[in-house]
Amino acid sequence: MSSEVFFTSMKIKRGESLLTKLEHLIIRAGLLEAISPKDLVAIKLHFGERGNLAYVRPQYVRRLVDLVKKKGGRPFLTDANTLYVGSRSNAVDHLETAIENGFDYSVVGAPLVIADGLNGKDYTSVPVNLKHFKDVKIGSAAVQADVLLAISHLKGHEATGFGGTLKNLGMGLGSRAGKQQQHSDLLPQVNEEKCIACGKCVKWCPAAAIVIEGKAKISQDKCIGCAECTVTCPERAIAINWKTEADTMQEKIAEYTVGVLKGKEGKTGFITFVTNVSPQCDCYGWNDVPIVGDIGILASKDPIAIDQAAVDLINQAHGNPLSELGERHGEPDKFRVLFPNVDWTIQLSYGEMIGLGSREYQLIRI
Ligand code: SF4
Ligand code: SF4
Repeated sequence: MSSEVFFTSMKIKRGESLLTKLEHLIIRAGLLEAISPKDLVAIKLHFGERGNLAYVRPQYVRRLVDLVKKKGGRPFLTDANTLYVGSRSNAVDHLETAIENGFDYSVVGAPLVIADGLNGKDYTSVPVNLKHFKDVKIGSAAVQADVLLAISHLKGHEATGFGGTLKNLGMGLGSRAGKQQQHSDLLPQVNEEKCIACGKCVKWCPAAAIVIEGKAKISQDKCIGCAECTVTCPERAIAINWKTEADTMQEKIAEYTVGVLKGKEGKTGFITFVTNVSPQCDCYGWNDVPIVGDIGILASKDPIAIDQAAVDLINQAHGNPLSELGERHGEPDKFRVLFPNVDWTIQLSYGEMIGLGSREYQLIRI
């Protein structure tokens, strides 16, 4: 059965605001139907890493906050701490980064709550009984909320091909231990011929798993599989066997998403911005030239359908030759150009198989 995905483009008539278009989209998609008076409404988003500018602007978030309040809900903005070193690995740094990026109460009109607490240990085990996990460790604030609305930003991702709603929910709301479980199959290897022993990976590794002994050496016992070293190495000397391991990670993200949504049937809604589609994740302290022009905003009650629709819109759009796609900008699958060894469809096909939603959708343009 196909699901409804509502879409509004970034094209406007003079005098019209994108904020108004977003409001119409949310209402038309029926996302506010999930809210009853006094409901605690978690709005899951990514506050942006320090230095990254591709995240969704707080002014858009404010519009959703205002709509939730009009329905009588009590909204709060939330995300869980990250696994890697960076500016969001504990609640203090995370909140400071969020405020620096514009998510201050005076702008967004709602408090910020870090879902898994001060140091990522405040989680709730949710039983799922699936292939990889019997239970999953979700940030407690998200579990305890009555309603969960997610605002996602679609972009490329080196481990999953693209990151959208599923990744925002499953990985994003996993506690630190939960994130570790999802990453645990990623085992990086150093190509000693390429390594120049600069030590950048040593400084970035959150598990102190790398030492320089002539060349970089990774302790497989200490490594937590965060994959940060693969992107911080300037020589691209560290690689992961994405072909098999990325498939498993995508399945794990889908299983975590089941845990995030469990008990909230009819109390969830998803919004995805297909704008500033950077080739890599917003977790890095930079963002690169977008691979396509700004396309629009999607809204749906189906987390699989909204991801499938977002990727399809990107693949149907003209690729930007000035982006990382380069001369291959005209190829039909832009994410396979960026990450040739990652089959991004796994997260959607497996998610569909375990009941998260449908890859078949009807795109309703408003
Ligand atoms: S960052 Fe790369 S080049 Fe530098 S020490 Fe680590 S593996 Fe070697
Ligand atoms: S070695 Fe790489 S993947 Fe392993 S913990 Fe360190 S940065 Fe993460």
